[in-house]
Amino acid sequence: MSQVYDRVALIGLGLIASSMFWAIKRAGLVGEVTGYARSEATRDTARRIGLCDRVCDSVAEAVAGADLVVLCVPVGAMGPVAAEMAPHLKPGATVSDVGSVKRAVIDAVAPHIPEGVHFIPAHPLAGTEHSGPESGFAELFDNRWSLIVPHGDPDQAAVDNLRALWEGMGANVEVMDPDHHDLVLAVTSHTPHLIAYTMVGVADDLRRVTDSEVIKYSAAGFRDFTRIAASDPTMWRDVFLTNKEATLEILGRFTEELFALQRAIRTGDGDQLFDYFTRTRAIRRGIIQAGQDTDKPNFGRGPATR
Ligand code: NAP
Repeated sequence: MSQVYDRVALIGLGLIASSMFWAIKRAGLVGEVTGYARSEATRDTARRIGLCDRVCDSVAEAVAGADLVVLCVPVGAMGPVAAEMAPHLKPGATVSDVGSVKRAVIDAVAPHIPEGVHFIPAHPLAGTEHSGPESGFAELFDNRWSLIVPHGDPDQAAVDNLRALWEGMGANVEVMDPDHHDLVLAVTSHTPHLIAYTMVGVADDLRRVTDSEVIKYSAAGFRDFTRIAASDPTMWRDVFLTNKEATLEILGRFTEELFALQRAIRTGDGDQLFDYFTRTRAIRRGIIQAGQDTDKPNFGRGPATR
């Protein structure tokens, strides 16, 4: 794989930025990668584990001379960070981001981008429930989708270079409209997270009644919810605050379906339940056929309890 950029700056050094760094190094995609995180503790950790070729103590220093700057901070922090770095950007550079919501990031960041700098938002559809500089790994994006979400009249060469970087990091790339992105992600990621948070919250309330049996006898269904519900609180708070409309739309539909199933249970309508579960099972098969998950029982983690 040949070099795509001479210098890339990663702003925010958590799960996504650290995975990007290791994936960039694995394929030799960039000459020098600089990095910045707001806390000294994270910068110290980054230096200790060799995360970034050069860890900087200010955003200004990190972005100086960078051909590509990637904002890897929570969605709610994108605007203020963009404002801080804007005066220090190299003319002709590209700014991108990895935020889980796109319309709100475009609205917050685009006004700060100087004339002659390209802003090409993106979102890798890959993650884990872990966060921080030590949670990243080079394989995170392998065979996962990374969506490039241009707005306005994007510079084609800037889009092509960003695509080459994501492909070099192992991802499959597709271009998507920002509002469509936010609706798709509300269905595939944001609402499922909210449901998982809710189910674990309900179980936590119940735990007080059943004296920790919920933890002790935790079955596969509940455990899968707890993994999702362990995701970073800051990141997910920001996702729901900024993808409000689409999430509320999908939650409305979810609630209607839930009531329909609740009624089927109450009235003993086994056919409706059976047909519904047959339809949903096919979705899982589709995901496996698309190579987006394993078909091993219990996600390949060993025996499952139900
Ligand atoms: P993370 O591991 O929690 O790291 C976040 C980084 O942002 C940390 O370095 C943190 O600095 C910095 N930061 C936090 N608040 C900040 C602020 N107010 N100002 C400046 N810097 C701040 O997060 P992540 O999982 O890598 O997520 C980063 C972005 O990727 C988010 O926008 C998220 O929506 C998106 N994303 C996440 C996933 C996922 O599954 N995790 C997947 C795709 C996209 P300190 O360490 O110094 O506090």
